[in-house]
Amino acid sequence: MQSFSNSLFADAEASYEDARYVIFGVPYDGTTSYKPGTRFAPNAIRAISYNFEPYMPEYGIDLSDIPFTDLGDIYPEADPEAVAAQVEDTVSMILGDEKVPVMLGGEHSITIGAVRAAMPKWYVVCDAHLDFQDEYRGSRYNHDCVSARVRDLGIDNIVIIGARSGSREEFEAASHHRIYTADEVHDRGINAIIDEVKAAIGNDPIYLSIDADAVDSCLTPGLGTPDPFGITHWDLRSVIRALAGQAVAFDYVEVLPNDSEQTAAVAAKMIREFIGIRGHTARQ
Ligand code: MN
Ligand code: MN
Repeated sequence: MQSFSNSLFADAEASYEDARYVIFGVPYDGTTSYKPGTRFAPNAIRAISYNFEPYMPEYGIDLSDIPFTDLGDIYPEADPEAVAAQVEDTVSMILGDEKVPVMLGGEHSITIGAVRAAMPKWYVVCDAHLDFQDEYRGSRYNHDCVSARVRDLGIDNIVIIGARSGSREEFEAASHHRIYTADEVHDRGINAIIDEVKAAIGNDPIYLSIDADAVDSCLTPGLGTPDPFGITHWDLRSVIRALAGQAVAFDYVEVLPNDSEQTAAVAAKMIREFIGIRGHTARQ
């Protein structure tokens, strides 16, 4: 039969029942402080996903042979705390069905509800920002408060890779967690950092969150809060390749599709990477 394109992530051809990985979008940017528009990212990421071949030569697999699906988008409430509850419900459903959620932002505040549903032993995030504000602009669910809310859930094992921005108070609040600044990644190399992180987390389950602004804004400028002197997209891919296997859930947030699609392209490729490397490992 003729194949028809649709508005879902490319190669997400399994039914929900058969899927091992479940993509969904949260087009929400209600607490964005600088540039709005991350609500348009889920569909921008899906659109550019059709730019890539199903075949992944590094793994010798076709992405279309891995059972994954795309549910489309949540219709988000206006209030970030209500959105967290919507996300928590969705992620609980997917985890309850023994599948792996892959969430497309939207802004980073959506991660709070997902972590609440997953309650992992470790929270590992790539981010320019510490997100350790206790409250910001009148809300404890602002996208600058994500790490603080994760800590409040009792998840004390927090790893932040690519950090370079936060208040003095945030750096103090984060000081007993594992913070790897972008400078440190640049100086020591990402593999040394990954080895250290892997030694600390062992085989424990993690939640893996990617805030797109971890990557240097000179490389991927489509960001709500662009920040230069970041890690590279190569570094980010290394983190995902190293940690995807033990992630109970994954998200990719804070893409603002106002550039020439560099940022959405990296996001789409990293989502393929997450699903592809896990599917590849499962077949070995
Ligand atoms: Mn963030
Ligand atoms: Mn950030």
